[in-house]
Amino acid sequence: MSLAQGRPYLAIPGPSTMPDRVLAAMHRPAPNIYEGEIEEIAARVAANLRRVAMSSSHVAIYIANGHGAWEASISNVFSRGDKALSLVTGRFGNIWARNAATMGVDVQRLEFGIKAPADPAKVEEALRADKDHEIKAVLLTHVDTATSVVNDVAAIRAAIDAAGHPALLMVDCIASLGCDEFRMDDWGVDVMVAASQKGLMVPPGLGFVWFSDKALAASREADLVTPYWDWQPRAFPEMVYQYFGGTSPTHHLFGLDESLKMILEEEGLTHIWARHATLASAVWAAFETWGQEGDIALNIANPTHRAHSVTAARIGAGNAQRLRSWLEREAGVTLGIGLGMAEPGTPEANDFLRVAHMGHVNAHMTLGALATMEAGMQALKIPHNPGGIAAAAGAIAKGAGQA
Ligand SMILES: *Cc1c(COP(=O)(O)O)cnc(C)c1O
Repeated sequence: MSLAQGRPYLAIPGPSTMPDRVLAAMHRPAPNIYEGEIEEIAARVAANLRRVAMSSSHVAIYIANGHGAWEASISNVFSRGDKALSLVTGRFGNIWARNAATMGVDVQRLEFGIKAPADPAKVEEALRADKDHEIKAVLLTHVDTATSVVNDVAAIRAAIDAAGHPALLMVDCIASLGCDEFRMDDWGVDVMVAASQKGLMVPPGLGFVWFSDKALAASREADLVTPYWDWQPRAFPEMVYQYFGGTSPTHHLFGLDESLKMILEEEGLTHIWARHATLASAVWAAFETWGQEGDIALNIANPTHRAHSVTAARIGAGNAQRLRSWLEREAGVTLGIGLGMAEPGTPEANDFLRVAHMGHVNAHMTLGALATMEAGMQALKIPHNPGGIAAAAGAIAKGAGQA
């Protein structure tokens, strides 16, 4: 008997769960796009986006997903033939690098595998070797959503500085903004990209690029940019249409205005980071307990290298895929597929899954997902050490006690 009726729970790493308040804010007629309320909302949203990034820099908003924000960032910073150093810690870093190369950037990759963060010492070494300072920017993924590794952004900036290298630091925070701690100004980040549908809790459709004065100066010499992707009119608009290179994404703006209010005015970033840390610790506790028997393991062994928004794990012998199907069919819970851990289409690809705990997620949602996972393991006779739920409950109790 399926027990999937009731509100479904999408625990994939984007789109994340959207607050009903955000959806309700979008449920209204379009406003005048030339003046009035829309101007106020656009200005407020831009100011609040800077606050979420802990940044006094500039922000450009695009009608695009994360791939669009990636392309926007590359096209504003580089000219054809310019060099970039890409730090690859999983599939997303890989694609950003590949897209930059396709656009004509000469990308040098530093690969760190799929189980570890970028090593600042290797970055420093690579930059020291670039004696003529040809590398224009370092590309880093804060949280790689495929491997669920978190990179130490401040340590990478320190490595760039230690090498005495002038490269810009460009960071993909699509899976971390509004989940894991991120401080654009304090950490010396020049360009940061994000999108609406993850920690910001809004439907997919908006991409964002923040950029420092140093990046702005670099963009004045770069020539890859095309009119739609140019960040200057968007960040310094004289007319409201310039924010968006045309018609405003009216309903997404209503939704984002509401979610930014929830993030900044109601919960607050510090609390949001702590909530995600506690929910993540519950997911890790469950997996660590289950994994004392059978073939179950978190992808990232060192807890300090694990993201707080998503967890990648292995359940061998094809059981990750069996469990995912069971959860969706029998329990109304959808988990993420494994990405970039094995060749798609091979039997090994069925050994990986991801649990998202990103954005509008609380204790009962996370415990509910974990408890139905344990039920599924029992039903499917997947070898595991029982007690994952008790361990997760303990992590929640401990985290709640600290709040
Ligand atoms: C989701 C994601 C992307 C891609 O975003 P899309 O909106 O799917 O284009 C890029 N980088 C990271 C780290 C992501 O999590």
